[in-house]
Amino acid sequence: MLLIRYHGPFAGPAAGPAVRRPVSSASDPSVDVVVAGLGAAGAAVTWRLAARGLRVAGFDTHEPPHTLGSSHGRSRIIREAYFEHPQYVPLVQLAYRLWADLEQTAHARLLQTTGGLMIGKPDSSVITGTLRSAREHGLQVEQWTAAQIRRRVAALAPDDSMVGVFEPRAGVLSPEGGVTALLTAARALGAQIFVNEPVTGWQPEAPTGLLVGTTARTIRTRALVLAVGPWLPDLVPQLPVTVERVVQYWYARTGDDRFAPGRLPVFLIESPDGRVVYGLPDQGDGLKLAEHHHGTPAQADSVDRTVTPDERTRFHQLATRWVRGLDRPPAEWAVCLYTNTPDGDFVLDWLDEAQRVFVVSACSGHGFKFAPAIGEVAAAELTRTTPPVDLTPFRLARFGAAGSAAVGPIWLLRRRR
Ligand SMILES: Cc1cc2nc3c(=O)[nH]c(=O)nc-3n(C[C@H](O)[C@H](O)[C@H](O)COP(=O)(O)OP(=O)(O)OC[C@H]3O[C@@H](n4cnc5c(N)ncnc54)[C@H](O)[C@@H]3O)c2cc1C
Repeated sequence: MLLIRYHGPFAGPAAGPAVRRPVSSASDPSVDVVVAGLGAAGAAVTWRLAARGLRVAGFDTHEPPHTLGSSHGRSRIIREAYFEHPQYVPLVQLAYRLWADLEQTAHARLLQTTGGLMIGKPDSSVITGTLRSAREHGLQVEQWTAAQIRRRVAALAPDDSMVGVFEPRAGVLSPEGGVTALLTAARALGAQIFVNEPVTGWQPEAPTGLLVGTTARTIRTRALVLAVGPWLPDLVPQLPVTVERVVQYWYARTGDDRFAPGRLPVFLIESPDGRVVYGLPDQGDGLKLAEHHHGTPAQADSVDRTVTPDERTRFHQLATRWVRGLDRPPAEWAVCLYTNTPDGDFVLDWLDEAQRVFVVSACSGHGFKFAPAIGEVAAAELTRTTPPVDLTPFRLARFGAAGSAAVGPIWLLRRRR
């Protein structure tokens, strides 16, 4: 019989008295925290909670890493001089430290430093934002003219009116390797991982707990973390998040080495019309290119995963405008999902006034790099300690009425079928 007893480290003013009696049914174990979703975000939350000595049970509908959500595609960019907003710099710096810890724990190389080049008109958001973050956080960057870019990076062809900002610490992370390493590290610290077992609902259990249902069991817990990525609108339709279908492409290896990591940094190019193409060097699977946003609205379970010849041709035309040496159209492609907030910033907040259900939506197309830091700040919140990074920009209150409407006494929800 499985008896898991609440052992009380979930301390702090909002936590009530520990449950002292072991739960008496095999189908009703209890843990400190249940994590729903074990992609990059949920796996990281599970790891950081387990590192604090909490009893954590993580559940996923599928078997991560998998190709149905947001954490697949062989490579992800990490960069420090964050053009989106300087508020992300402390978060990414924390992530760099934790990725390094995870690499040591997992004996795996997860990050390859390649440098990063942001390209656009001098007044583009990519350029002004990168320079602002570098200035506010004292980061070393180099400013290049279009001619310098063309000379130093043989694969790129910016217009004369464009400039570049190069940052040395940027690089490439492995999403599948990262998720695997996070889950392995969480398991090693005692976290229980359940795959092919979705969370189906939850309800409050007075005075301080929750009952969480999955397709196989009911669990008594102190808190639930929802890290379900693009399935979030299915579980909590009141939240102001939408899902976007995007496509990532790979170009086959060619004879020359202009796409190799030593010659091509990770890059983003913002066109004068605001469209952003980004690329990651060929690490053995071919050059990866994609467009940031400009996708189509989608739902996680019914998204069209076919990429038509016409769609591929349109992307190839866009890419060849900025990238030299693309002799043939892309050889491979994969649909992926962004979960977007209206302002592009993450949601890291409680969903209920009693602070039992915590939402982690760290995507808007740029969340992977932060995963271990997201895990750390969420773990701090869940243990009622001060997060190492200010979470104000990620609270639901910033959405005004829409944010308040998403927070209630407690949600009694069932997964939409
Ligand atoms: C094409 C593409 C390129 C990107 N490039 C970058 C980049 O270069 N750099 C960067 O930093 N970020 C990038 N991102 C964003 C980043 O990959 C995502 O922010 C991140 O992977 C989101 O992870 P997640 O854990 O929130 O979601 P997911 O990985 O989708 O995980 C959610 C998990 O929840 C599970 N789940 C769903 N419902 C339930 C349920 N009811 N019960 C249990 N489990 C459930 C799912 O099976 C899934 O495993 C990119 C994203 C895409 C799509």
